[in-house]
Amino acid sequence: MLADPPRPRVLIVDDDDMTRLLATETLEGAGFEVFEAADGAAGVAAHAELTPDLMLLDVNMPGLDGYGVCAQVRARPEGSATPILVMTALDDVDAVERAFAAGATDFLTKPLNLPLLAHRVRYLLRAAQAFHDEREQAQVLARVQRLARLAHWRVDVAGFAWACDVGAVLWPEVAASVPAPRSLLALVHPDDRDMVATALTTTAPHQLDYRMVLPDGSERLVRQDAEVIDDAGRPVLIGATQDVTEQRAAERRIAQLAFFDDLTGLPSRAFLHRFLRRVLLDARAGGTPVTLISIGIALGAVPGTVSPTDRDELRRAIAARVVEHVRGADLDLRLDQPVGDPDAWAGGALLARPGSDELVLVLRDARAVDPEPVATRIAAALAVGYRIGDHELFVTSPLGIATSDDSGDDPRTLIEHARAASHQARVAALPVHRFSADVLRAARRSAEFERRVRTAVAHLADPTRVPEFTLYYQPKVERGSGRTVGVEALMRWFPADGPPISPGDFIPVAERSNAISQLGDWLLHQACAQGAAWVQAGTPIHVAVNVSPRQLRSVGFVERVVAIAAAAGFDLGLLEIEITEHATVDDFDQAAAVLHALRARGARIVLDDFGVGQSSLAYVARLPVDVIKIDRTFVAGLGRDPVSGAIVSAVMAMAEALDITVVVEGVETAQQVRMLGRYPACEIQGYYCARPAPPADLAPFLTGSFAWNVDDDGGPIEIAVDDVPGEVVLAS
Ligand code: C2E
Ligand code: CA
Ligand code: CA
Repeated sequence: MLADPPRPRVLIVDDDDMTRLLATETLEGAGFEVFEAADGAAGVAAHAELTPDLMLLDVNMPGLDGYGVCAQVRARPEGSATPILVMTALDDVDAVERAFAAGATDFLTKPLNLPLLAHRVRYLLRAAQAFHDEREQAQVLARVQRLARLAHWRVDVAGFAWACDVGAVLWPEVAASVPAPRSLLALVHPDDRDMVATALTTTAPHQLDYRMVLPDGSERLVRQDAEVIDDAGRPVLIGATQDVTEQRAAERRIAQLAFFDDLTGLPSRAFLHRFLRRVLLDARAGGTPVTLISIGIALGAVPGTVSPTDRDELRRAIAARVVEHVRGADLDLRLDQPVGDPDAWAGGALLARPGSDELVLVLRDARAVDPEPVATRIAAALAVGYRIGDHELFVTSPLGIATSDDSGDDPRTLIEHARAASHQARVAALPVHRFSADVLRAARRSAEFERRVRTAVAHLADPTRVPEFTLYYQPKVERGSGRTVGVEALMRWFPADGPPISPGDFIPVAERSNAISQLGDWLLHQACAQGAAWVQAGTPIHVAVNVSPRQLRSVGFVERVVAIAAAAGFDLGLLEIEITEHATVDDFDQAAAVLHALRARGARIVLDDFGVGQSSLAYVARLPVDVIKIDRTFVAGLGRDPVSGAIVSAVMAMAEALDITVVVEGVETAQQVRMLGRYPACEIQGYYCARPAPPADLAPFLTGSFAWNVDDDGGPIEIAVDDVPGEVVLAS
């Protein structure tokens, strides 16, 4: 069963016992809860204590009379809304007026018409409730309007009128100084006044954004919506005006975040796409193609010791250099960097930063500028070193060019094509590359290949998979004795799903895509474990591993080498680290420090591919080098061109003077072997002795010595010798 609704509470204030008795009986019979007070003072007190829903009040009472009670009750907050029904003598018009003046709600005449009393009370209560609801609604509305800063108004025959206190609603913080003018126009910014005046004098709906100026001089942005209503046959314009200053500022901040890059302040990816979509449509309509230059920023060569903050600093410096350079007077194009809305910006060239390591330059009218010299000069400008903190840094920034002529008017395609061209530039080590269909195919292939390399390397960490990489070893045989003094570890990749892939192909890719560190660590471990196994087997031998520039630069490289060798139980004194000159180009001092540290722990340092670089001799002088490997190209020329022979003998002389061991690499023929007979201390590595092979195949080299099978009498060298390979003779 539902609980009864609360009974309305009525307070009767009358000094006449009979009236109180009758009224109480009647009202209780009609379902009210009734309280009584026998004089004015008691009535005021009872009201304060009970806050009844209605008060029935006699005007004529000794002491505090009904008018006094009425005034006192009304003076209190809780009494302001109580319906007060006063009881007066019949025909006492004067009393009725006084009662209303004192705050009475309605009146009854005495003697009371008892059958009607309950109806009057009920009616009054309903009216009071309706009044209360409406007032509450009006309060809520006013509050909402203040919160929304939304003021409303109407324009009719009498003219413009605010329907609220405009100052309090729109600008509470300066409300005191806003005199709530009747006219809207008085507050409108002079430049916008005509527009607003026209809208207000036209009986038609409108929507306007304009500025208002407050008496304190501050400027606000408002949005105004108006519509026409019919008021008793006359059209009336009603409208709402909202202060949108903060909202617009927030919108601007959001747009700034979405459309501009934090780090450089350049337009972001979102800006670029919006802008491109528009200009490509224009381009199609107007027939002028758009050029896009993608500037890849390869930070791969930046040493691992450079902090993230410094890297960001570098990115900023690169962006600033492009801006400065494109803006520079030597290029026939203007770069006005945009602010605000990509849909509104109308510049001719745009530099954006769509990704953390990419900048994109859009040339709106491809016919106005030849992009190739522009790109070439940007590339040249970017190749100059950057001074960041204590570092002198170099980055490669391959540029790719694509135009909408070839790529169509889809922004994504155009960007993808420019990017593919940039990728190809990087792979081909060119500063600039232009997009073509071949480029796209090649870029896709190399991206796919990069993915395969990364995946195969990542799988090395998964013990449930058979590694696809392995090491082959190639012996280095001392020319004089035929003894195998060391091996070089060479990586092999046998993909599970395809033919073997040469390290010449995948090492550079692993190097570019950062997989080299993981791969390098893995194979260093394999080589050390194999070296330790040979020591165990009683055939200790030097094991040389190739270390790429990126590995050498990686943070903590020396400690990792030491730890890996220790974990494998391999003596660092038997480890050789093969590096090329490339390892040192970016930061010579850092590379030298790493090599010194490795050597201090016992490892030997081998300078690979000696002679092909720019300043091989300088490196030998400044780096801690134990061994140099004469590059294959000189060996191939031995006996055929005199320069190669001269270089080989010069290197041999220098090495002897500096007490450096020489390895001659790529020895394939008996003739080459014979010519090297003059240098019994040199070591020979090449197909003539053995191809790189799995460790088991090396066993004869470790236990026997190599018979060169050439005539070593030092006599004149014949050009046409038979290339019968030598063989390993087991020691007896
Ligand atoms: P590299 O360090 O100069 O290695 C010598 C290359 O010459 C090896 O090629 C080897 O197989 C090849 N070779 C040996 N003897 C002869 C010969 O008589 N004639 C000819 N024509 N070639 C000979 P491979 O194994 O294909 O390696 C190519 C390059 O890949 C290496 O050049 C090295 O730069 C890189 N590489 C190989 N393994 C690794 C590795 O584990 N780590 C790193 N970072 N690079 C590696
Ligand atoms: Ca090597
Ligand atoms: Ca080499």
